[in-house]
Amino acid sequence: MHKPRIAVVGAGPGGLTLARVLHLRGIRASVFEREKFSSFRPQGGSLDMHGTSGQYAIECAELTTEFKHIARYEDQESRVYDKYGKLRFIDDDITGKNRPEVDRGQLRQMLLDSLPAGVIHWDHELGAIERQDDGRYQLVFPNGTSDSFDFVIGADGAWSRVRPLVSQARPIYSGVAFVEMGIDDADTRYPELARVIGRGSMFALGDSKALIGHRGANARLGIYAALRAPQDWIETGGLDMSSPEAMKASLAAHFSGWSEILLELIYKSDGRITPRAIHVLPAGHRWDNRPGITLLGDAAHLMSPFGGDGCNLAMQDGAELALALAGNEHWQTAVHDWEAAMFARAEPAAVDAWDALQAAFSEDGLANILRAMEMQRGPG
Ligand SMILES: Cc1cc2nc3c(=O)[nH]c(=O)nc-3n(C[C@H](O)[C@H](O)[C@H](O)COP(=O)(O)OP(=O)(O)OC[C@H]3O[C@@H](n4cnc5c(N)ncnc54)[C@H](O)[C@@H]3O)c2cc1C
Repeated sequence: MHKPRIAVVGAGPGGLTLARVLHLRGIRASVFEREKFSSFRPQGGSLDMHGTSGQYAIECAELTTEFKHIARYEDQESRVYDKYGKLRFIDDDITGKNRPEVDRGQLRQMLLDSLPAGVIHWDHELGAIERQDDGRYQLVFPNGTSDSFDFVIGADGAWSRVRPLVSQARPIYSGVAFVEMGIDDADTRYPELARVIGRGSMFALGDSKALIGHRGANARLGIYAALRAPQDWIETGGLDMSSPEAMKASLAAHFSGWSEILLELIYKSDGRITPRAIHVLPAGHRWDNRPGITLLGDAAHLMSPFGGDGCNLAMQDGAELALALAGNEHWQTAVHDWEAAMFARAEPAAVDAWDALQAAFSEDGLANILRAMEMQRGPG
């Protein structure tokens, strides 16, 4: 069999899982990542790994032992409050639950550590990609270098530079904006706030808005304030960006009438405050197979974070694509079949995630999430 030269664009969870599983099968891929080095940017908070997607991918990557060292099985509780700070739902029985939390930074480091030196090319932001006459793809980087590959996988996230080669689709704004914050070492510094969030995730809902918290490693509380807002609400003064204190005060003003203890999650946050407009690709996004190029993860199926599936699916995509490539005489057929399975898997997840987002940020947001939590209660 002709062994394709493989390039992966993006060293996120999807691209790294792909590279790792290929490496285990003796297939080398070059991973190009725009960040300058592994700790260049904080990777964000905690997420839970689902059994049949994220954890399955970790098994394929033969990293279950390493994962168990960083997984927090003890942080699987859920709480829901109303805007007055009244606890309306708690599920603190974690017996039999199997959706452990893991910090994104630790997850990424685990995957990076599992790859041989030289696989990741840091500081390589893809500038352009062109199909050559021989059917190969040339990747061009702003530092002036370029290289050609038989097979390019765009694992480069929401604003993928590879996507336009297979699809005209662009992410659209969901109408919901998140503001990401956090509190380090909360058990010692703000034990009362650590108790509000508890050992897992917390949602407080009202007025079509939400304060969302989750407990991370080292008692870091990850906090999102989320609300419906015009796409340009930051540029048009929706938040006073002049200083962290001004940002907190102007953000808290959007939650006026909410209980003091919930607002303290905003006021006591550390200085790093990041607004994020939530974008999605149309649910069911797909393209006609093109030899030598494909997408995975957010590049293929960017979806609302309210399903908690994006990272899990990106890793499953990466693992299954690697297994398909390694296990098939004809790699182009393998990619075609893998794409069909990925499209079928991603579409219902994207629909559910969109519906969950709309349900949470509606007038009945609290009732909707209470209903959803009751249905989810029980073994994970
Ligand atoms: C607020 C929020 C909360 C979330 N919570 C969860 C959750 O609880 N559970 C869950 O499963 N998912 C969650 N997600 C979704 C999850 O973050 C993504 O689905 C996941 O990170 C996708 O992985 P990926 O590898 O496809 O892409 P990414 O993680 O976006 O990685 C893409 C990589 O490509 C690199 N890159 C981009 N452009 C280029 C370029 N031109 N050249 C080279 N490199 C490039 C980037 O630097 C990055 O390293 C959440 C998302 C958000 C916004």
